[in-house]
Amino acid sequence: MHSRRFSTLPAIFVLTFIYFVAGKLGLRFASFHASASPVWPPVGIALAGLLLLGYRVWPAIFVGAFLVNVTTMGNIATSLGIATGNTLEAICGAWMVNRFARGTRAFDRAQDVFTFSLAAIVSTLVSPTLGVTSLALGGYADWTKYGPIWTTWWLGDAAGDLIVAPLVLLWAIGSTREWSRRDVIEVGVLLLLLVGLSEIVFGGWLAISARNYPISFICGPIVIWTAFRFTQRETATGIFILSAIAIWGTLRGFGPFVMETENHSLVTLQAWTAVLTITAMALSAAMAERRRAEVAIEQQKSAVEAANRTKDNFLAMLSHELRTPLTPVMSALDSLQQDLAQSDETKSALAMIQRNVELESQLIADLLDLTRIAKNKLDLKFDPVDAHDAVRNVIEICQAEAKAKLLRVYIDLRAGAHYVSADAAKFQQIIWNLLKNAIKFTPEGGEITISSCNSAPQSLTIAVRDTGIGIDPSIMERIFNPFEQGELSAQRRFGGLGLGLAISKSLTEAHGGTLVAKSEGQNRGTTFFLTLRTVPPQPQIAIATAAPSCSRSLRILLVDDHSDTCTALERLLIRRGHLVAATHNVRSAMEAVVRNHFDLLISDVALPDGTGLDLMKQVRAIRPLPGIAISGFGANGDIEKSLQAGFADHLIKPIKLETLEAAIGRAIAS
Ligand code: ADP
Repeated sequence: MHSRRFSTLPAIFVLTFIYFVAGKLGLRFASFHASASPVWPPVGIALAGLLLLGYRVWPAIFVGAFLVNVTTMGNIATSLGIATGNTLEAICGAWMVNRFARGTRAFDRAQDVFTFSLAAIVSTLVSPTLGVTSLALGGYADWTKYGPIWTTWWLGDAAGDLIVAPLVLLWAIGSTREWSRRDVIEVGVLLLLLVGLSEIVFGGWLAISARNYPISFICGPIVIWTAFRFTQRETATGIFILSAIAIWGTLRGFGPFVMETENHSLVTLQAWTAVLTITAMALSAAMAERRRAEVAIEQQKSAVEAANRTKDNFLAMLSHELRTPLTPVMSALDSLQQDLAQSDETKSALAMIQRNVELESQLIADLLDLTRIAKNKLDLKFDPVDAHDAVRNVIEICQAEAKAKLLRVYIDLRAGAHYVSADAAKFQQIIWNLLKNAIKFTPEGGEITISSCNSAPQSLTIAVRDTGIGIDPSIMERIFNPFEQGELSAQRRFGGLGLGLAISKSLTEAHGGTLVAKSEGQNRGTTFFLTLRTVPPQPQIAIATAAPSCSRSLRILLVDDHSDTCTALERLLIRRGHLVAATHNVRSAMEAVVRNHFDLLISDVALPDGTGLDLMKQVRAIRPLPGIAISGFGANGDIEKSLQAGFADHLIKPIKLETLEAAIGRAIAS
């Protein structure tokens, strides 16, 4: 990947100039042979140039190298040979990096940094081989010194690629990192420390650098720190600065790399810097990879959370929409059941309809519970509850079902301390879920035992044991997840949505307790253990308070835009002896209020031209009128809003006759 932003000729011209200047600078470090320098920055500039601008700028390297050499040593032929070597080396290096290390993105990943380093080491074999051979053939180099000259040349080139190319590339590409004030301060501190330490080791400030102690390693932590905290660009820059100070100091006789000759010193120093570069750049790239992975995980997390919110909203909406049509069905059912002149067949058909509507209603309630749990909107009222009473209640509710399946239900409640601090209704719901499952998953003629014990001081465990189909160990971990039913249930179609245990577990945890399942495996029964902390026995709170009912005939204004619901409720209320005016929106309801005198307003919350809450406020501005809000939404916030608007009650659809009657009684009495 290279840029076409620069037209070829000017790019070649500029690159030739830079190459020439860098080459002349590099040759100032050539002490062993005038054409072989252990410090050779042009090679890194050439490689970066080809990677950034494309192979088309190769003439810049050729001309630049030719000019550097022809003005240094040798003749035109040797200079042409060296220039050819330098150009081929750069092309070869660029090709390898493009092919194997993702080109200009070579420093994005640690594995590409290693490939880049390998390409630098291998491609730089070309120039010294062609160069030294040209010089020796032309008589400008002693064949006997071929080896040392070649080594100096190669090391200078490899180090040049490793130290200079990343610097040029990374500054040319630019960085996407946003710098905070803290970052700027930190990088400033790092730079100061790096310069300070480099000066201590190589600068001759302290005696240790003059005495050439081998303490170059003390610069390592600063470079590693840069690699950890900042991007590859800062790391490459740090190393470049360190390298410059180290070369400068070593030439003045300071630092651990000073040896008998200048060339020896620089060759060793360059080898050290090259190794440090590979390590630091690889580390820096790995850190960048990690940061990218963290960002990707964060993005995925947000996407999953958003999807989850959408799902919760969908479930809330769905349960609302599913509830609405149930209200007229239940109301009509109530009306029909009031009719005494029914044949046995009709009675049993109505009972069957009621059972199924109630089942449907329960499934919807479960969905709503789940969304409330997911949104952390569970509102639990904790009171001392007699757990044994709750268990007996649940057994009574489920008795008919167990009997129908010829199941024997044993009760063994022997816990001495059996009061727990709980939300009475929710606590009962947990036990109900467990017993319903035991009945559902136990074949005819099986046994269910509900027992209690104080497994530890101040701890009550209720066990629901069955002799049913059992749970395979492979799904044991998952059965408490929402919608999880295990494969067995899917195959055998036991019904349900797979929410009961998820809700029970969340409710148990909200009570500070634990719910665990144990099973020996398939067809070997299951036991659920519900454990809660006990509290001292106290007068128990009744689960439901008796509601006053209203016996007199009322003038009721009924507002609901769902015409079936409206009609069914209207019929129901008329059958109970009330006078009902039914309207479908805020406007017609207000007209009715202005014209007539009503005893009670029953209004849906969501209306086509406003809300039931707005309606109540407008009505109360004219005259006080008791009201009951009805809605498919029943979260605490919804109920609160209705009460604040002036409604005496908030009923959640589908509405049962007794619930409505009790609410009417309360509203009129208040
Ligand atoms: P549902 O009963 O609607 O499927 P639950 O959340 O109550 O959902 O149960 C989840 C799954 O756990 C069931 O589908 C079933 O596979 C397994 N399970 C629950 N209780 C029992 C039990 N008593 N015996 C065997 N399997 C059970």
